Amino acid sequence: MAQLSDPITVLPGVGEKRAKLYAQLGIYTLRDLICHFPRGYEDRTRIVPISALIPDQPACFRATVMTPPRTSHIRKGLDITKVQVADSSARLNLTFFNQKFTAGQLVYGKEYIFYGAVTGDFIGYNMPSPVFESLDSPPVVTRRILPIYPLTAGLNNAGMIRTISLARELCPDPPEILPEDLRREYRILPAARAYQAIHAPASMEEAAMAKRRLIFEEFFVFSAGLALARATRETRQVAPYEKVELSAFRAALPFRLTGAQERAIRDLTRDLTRGIPMNRLIQGDVGSGKTMVAAAAAYLAAVNGRQAALMAPTEILAEQHFSSLRPLFDRLGLRTALLTGSMTPKEKRGVREALAAGETDLVIGTHALLSEATAFQNLGLVITDEQHRFGVAQRSALSEKGREVHLLVMSATPIPRTLALLMYGDLEVSVLDELPPGRQQVDTFLVGESMRARINAFIRKQVQEGHQCFVVCPAVEENQELGMKAATAWAQTLGQTVFPDLRIALLHGQLKGAEKERIMASFARGEADVLVATTVIEVGVDVPNATLMVIEDADRFGLSQLHQLRGRVGRGGAKSYCILTTHNRAPETLARLKALCATNDGFRIAEEDLKLRGPGDFFGSRQSGMPAFRVASVSTDLETLQQAQQAAAGWIDAHGQEDTPEAAALRERIGELFAHGSPAMN
Ligand code: ADP
Ligand code: MG
Repeated sequence: MAQLSDPITVLPGVGEKRAKLYAQLGIYTLRDLICHFPRGYEDRTRIVPISALIPDQPACFRATVMTPPRTSHIRKGLDITKVQVADSSARLNLTFFNQKFTAGQLVYGKEYIFYGAVTGDFIGYNMPSPVFESLDSPPVVTRRILPIYPLTAGLNNAGMIRTISLARELCPDPPEILPEDLRREYRILPAARAYQAIHAPASMEEAAMAKRRLIFEEFFVFSAGLALARATRETRQVAPYEKVELSAFRAALPFRLTGAQERAIRDLTRDLTRGIPMNRLIQGDVGSGKTMVAAAAAYLAAVNGRQAALMAPTEILAEQHFSSLRPLFDRLGLRTALLTGSMTPKEKRGVREALAAGETDLVIGTHALLSEATAFQNLGLVITDEQHRFGVAQRSALSEKGREVHLLVMSATPIPRTLALLMYGDLEVSVLDELPPGRQQVDTFLVGESMRARINAFIRKQVQEGHQCFVVCPAVEENQELGMKAATAWAQTLGQTVFPDLRIALLHGQLKGAEKERIMASFARGEADVLVATTVIEVGVDVPNATLMVIEDADRFGLSQLHQLRGRVGRGGAKSYCILTTHNRAPETLARLKALCATNDGFRIAEEDLKLRGPGDFFGSRQSGMPAFRVASVSTDLETLQQAQQAAAGWIDAHGQEDTPEAAALRERIGELFAHGSPAMN
């Protein structure tokens, strides 16, 4: 007997060379092989008469060989073998290309089961290269449901089927990890049946049940892992913060905190005094004032003698946080510093020395904070400000720079609790569901190209009234992606042709950090009337005098992203507007964009986005923190995810630490999943 953990080279016929091909599919061990599941199936169970064959639709039929196979050599590299077969309904000509040996095995007068598709023409039907088996052989390529596996060049499906069944003969299937009572409650197949049925189902229904079981299992292991991580975290001790007085902090603010901010601060204060590490997500719409909640946490860390680090996804945002928090912390007698990649080596060294010496209370920065060169004297709080841009690995890399580190994550995109768990692992959530007073609704309009002259007139009007405008384009350069308005060219057109008398600035992600900052700061000071930009301005940048945002080719963006962008205006006292342009007339696209015009509520928009695009797209390409599931898909298996989460939480609470074989097998599986890095590693 072989072990699940054995390399696949223990299988006869799998040498180093084959193993390399399998490795390309992530298959190294027998377990990997047994857990290499089909991406679909071909139902070859039904046997039809020849006369019922339909062109181009492969099917099984049973027929007798009517002529001895005859091979003609057409030219170098091309042999054709022909043979005629028949059943009681019709005759059929079979043609095999370069399969002289295979086709030659057909015996004149004998009956076989064939599987193939006829190609029709007016003379009659012909069937190129069917597969076949004799009636007394076990069903392998006919009379069964054939699994279709993900492959890579050099491997074929038949070979994969053989190798997997060899592995399953030599070694036991992965053990059962789902407790029997749960299996019954959720109507889940036992492991042994599921592995059999996923690779060799007796019916399509059975295949579907096996798949559901494996999806459930995957989510269950993941969720159980989160529950265990939480239990473990709760046993980790950190010195509770003793000083929780915030009156000096409140007094230093230029405004009163909103009720929602106060509630979030109360939540995190409770976390910081509990004596176990905080693990909290602050969700709040754009403009809800998350930064001040983070500032309160950093203040508490500082007065309790700990350093805090705030990590932002872009330099612009880090710089903006720095310039808004520094005056506040100055007033409070605390020391702030900025650390970004585009600072000179000397500047960075200075900041790092001060951090290591404990001379800085709050450092704000980008990925530069993660660098090995960055060390803290006494890091006690890590805050990440993100639009789901940091992977868990990065959050924990920063946390590991201290011994007793609390974690606070800020996100502007409201996501359902189930998905928040996938993205962020085991987090408590505070929601800022209230905007600071005096916020303007941003009136949003969707227009077509025919409105161009009016858009331009509207931009001019805002500028004449002393305000500024953002124009957002989906691409940086022309032709970068076909048919998308490019910021660089559009800025030129606006500056030279449309508004030669206005001051037009250009900002995009390909500029150097310092250059971006200079442009943004200059725009914030009112030195340009119109800022043409890409989504680099999506995150956080604050220009209260900007009252209009025009988003070109708005259909190129996700709804939540558009909402983020729109949040850049309406930050001052004046009435603000957002204009979405599109060439796309598809009804779904228009419906999506109209949803944005209808509401300013980020939570509702996120829900809509989720409904319209599914969570896969919702997270877009920024899935860095998402676990890699083998069978499960976050986009389509949400319901199973919810069931598995519920089941896992209850079971871990009750039995997680028990010494049963099931609990041990589950813990082992969790260990494997988490070894590959997953969000629960916070
Ligand atoms: P976000 O949640 O989008 O990160 P910010 O923290 O950037 O929002 O806050 C948006 C703006 O609102 C900032 O200019 C900030 O100074 C201001 N602000 C935050 N809290 C309040 C408040 N309680 N009252 C008035 N203005 C506030
Ligand atoms: Mg923010």
